[in-house]
Amino acid sequence: MDASGIRKVFDLAAKMRDPINLSIGQPDFDVPEQLRQAAVQAIQNGYNKYTQTQGLAELHEALGKACQAEFGWNNDHPFLVASGVSGALVLAMLTLVNPGDEVLFLDPYFVMYKHLVNLAGGVPIAVDTYPDFKLDVDKIARAITPKTRLLILNSPANPTGAVYDESQLRQLAELAGRHNLLVISDEIYNLFCYDQPFVSMASLYENTLLMRGFSKSYAMTGWRVAWVTGPKPIIEKMTMLQQYSFVCAPSMAQAACVPALQADMSAEVAQYRRKRDMVYDMLGETFGLVRPAGAFYAFVPAPGKNATAFVQKAIDNNVLVIPGNVFSSRDTHFRISYATNDQKLQQGLEILVKLAKG
Ligand code: PLP
Repeated sequence: MDASGIRKVFDLAAKMRDPINLSIGQPDFDVPEQLRQAAVQAIQNGYNKYTQTQGLAELHEALGKACQAEFGWNNDHPFLVASGVSGALVLAMLTLVNPGDEVLFLDPYFVMYKHLVNLAGGVPIAVDTYPDFKLDVDKIARAITPKTRLLILNSPANPTGAVYDESQLRQLAELAGRHNLLVISDEIYNLFCYDQPFVSMASLYENTLLMRGFSKSYAMTGWRVAWVTGPKPIIEKMTMLQQYSFVCAPSMAQAACVPALQADMSAEVAQYRRKRDMVYDMLGETFGLVRPAGAFYAFVPAPGKNATAFVQKAIDNNVLVIPGNVFSSRDTHFRISYATNDQKLQQGLEILVKLAKG
């Protein structure tokens, strides 16, 4: 494992005075008041002990209802409440991947995928999606071998903000079905989908291990709760492994996630849609940016196709962004997170444009 890329940026950030920080992968709004109160109340009500390994019964019930409303499922889907999607990914990789198994995901990718596949002894196979970050099913088909164990999908995506539409996902479902391939669908940014209704792979393909998190949707990154559903034998094995690792997700946080499933986050999402527009309006033409459709990131082509050099320049000018080689085999782009206040965002974008124009 190599932590050098992102650590270098954070080491630099520690030395900066009041930087314009466009590198942060979490919302800038706080947990909604009623959910904070729910967590406080949960502590007062004694939710301070281990829960069952698979998670609180009332959260399972609420998840069942939410999935019934979204997917039309009967109440026969197994759930596992995990310590974040990160925790769910660790359990999934250790459960599913044997040494030498190949795991496909799209490049650029969320950093954890590659490292967790390696941790499990698997072989990460990153399928290039440059320059537009679209889901190219033929390219994925060409990457499948007899050793392919599973495919990880992330829509809306970190770091590109790409969102896959229903017809692309249907094609992918057909391909995966032909190869009997399990798909992990990391839908942690499902609420942050700006231009089209969000489509879940789980609604189109049964052999999907669906992961959703509370971290980004409700700004609870420190609370460490997520949920997983999918084929029963896999959920059972992951639950068994959780027994010997994470034990359970934090009890009071799980309790507060029950009302979270009812919370209306549309105002926050509208704010982020507006910030996305601001980023695209200011950077689109100068940088040749592909318009991001979801999450809260833009993956911007670096002038001279040298992201590390450009990021260094940005940092010298007090703007913190992350070079693309942290998320990719290429170092031609940099990632902006627009999860910050308008003033900082405006200032940061103006500096980036000025630097690009030389
Ligand atoms: N998946 C993606 C694509 C992410 O961007 C992140 C966090 O940045 C995670 C998973 C992990 O989220 P958590 O462990 O907080 O649920």
